[in-house]
Amino acid sequence: MRIEHNASLKPYNTFGLDVTAERLYHLESEMDVVEYLDDPKGFGTHTLLLGGGSNMLLAGNLKGSVARVAWTGRRIVEEGDGYVVVEAAAGENWHEFVQWTVDQGWGGLQNLSLIPGLVGTAPVQNIGAYGVETKDSLHALRWMRWEDGEVEEFSNADCGFSYRESVFKSVLRDQGIILSVQFKLTTRDHALITHYGSVAEELAAAGSEPSLRSIADAVMAIRRSKLPNPAELGNSGSFFKNPAVAAEVAESLAAEHPSLPQYPQANGSVKLAAGWLIEQAGWKGKRVGNAGMHAKQALVLVNYGGATAAELVHVATQVQADVWAKFGVALEMEVNLIGA
Ligand SMILES: Cc1cc2nc3c(=O)[nH]c(=O)nc-3n(C[C@H](O)[C@H](O)[C@H](O)COP(=O)(O)OP(=O)(O)OC[C@H]3O[C@@H](n4cnc5c(N)ncnc54)[C@H](O)[C@@H]3O)c2cc1C
Repeated sequence: MRIEHNASLKPYNTFGLDVTAERLYHLESEMDVVEYLDDPKGFGTHTLLLGGGSNMLLAGNLKGSVARVAWTGRRIVEEGDGYVVVEAAAGENWHEFVQWTVDQGWGGLQNLSLIPGLVGTAPVQNIGAYGVETKDSLHALRWMRWEDGEVEEFSNADCGFSYRESVFKSVLRDQGIILSVQFKLTTRDHALITHYGSVAEELAAAGSEPSLRSIADAVMAIRRSKLPNPAELGNSGSFFKNPAVAAEVAESLAAEHPSLPQYPQANGSVKLAAGWLIEQAGWKGKRVGNAGMHAKQALVLVNYGGATAAELVHVATQVQADVWAKFGVALEMEVNLIGA
């Protein structure tokens, strides 16, 4: 197993923060996970499980050991009438895996193109975009409990999925590691979802009929035009969740702010667009030192180059305070704040 000492985590987090790990274990196989667990200097001093580092803000240098998910592999588990079940190792790059499924003609993940991160992390916050979430096609996954090294199989229902949530982010947070994930994908009669965001407009502009490939391409084009590329401008995607409020609260907000976008939920609550709230609070494109909210997408906290974690956290807390002062709505971070 590859172990680095006083390793810079700059290449491994999309904010591009130059923090160090006292020991960085590169887990390149499931056997490495077992070895890491048995190593007193490894799991014995565990501080962080690191996937692609695209959903975390590393607030400082990390003592002890950081385990980086780095093993790959894909296989077909089952082929049936109109479907296929495929399994991918936790360290597979999410976007490359999605493109591979699209190229095979398998439907389900195409709207989730170009989301950074790894396959093993996709279930943690039930990643979603353009009307589709991981939970819509996740079949099962394997999870190892840190406490005793036991591997358990989780069905879709066991994962407790909801908007940007799962048991791995709540009751089982930091309790174990997802080893591999299975997806049940369609081989014909695909559900082609084009009515979210501007997917339909993008298809029309390209003169394309909806298909797995044309939708994936449309989603990529939209994302490239709207979201900063972490390789060029450090960021972690949407920094805050869209807040859900009680229907009465939404009603009184709408009376005062008629253009506030509202999305009624099945449970009676109403989801509000966090980006709109942030923009109205004056933060779209606003910068403090080297950190700020992106000019094209107010929900994205950006490192304009050389920002410290403290500068980023300062902007995030100011945004929360200003949205609260203007609307009385609390914004919850979607991104994991590590080591603060
Ligand atoms: C430009 C950009 C756009 C984005 N767009 C979207 C979007 O449209 N929709 C969306 O939902 N998200 C989006 N994100 C957020 C991010 O891509 C996802 O949350 C992604 O799933 C994070 O994966 P990761 O491997 O980078 O996770 P990391 O940041 O490495 O880890 C996130 C959390 O999961 C834990 N973890 C990592 N691996 C495992 C494992 N194998 N088992 C158990 N726990 C684990 C970590 O300890 C940490 O707590 C975006 C991010 C960026 C930078």
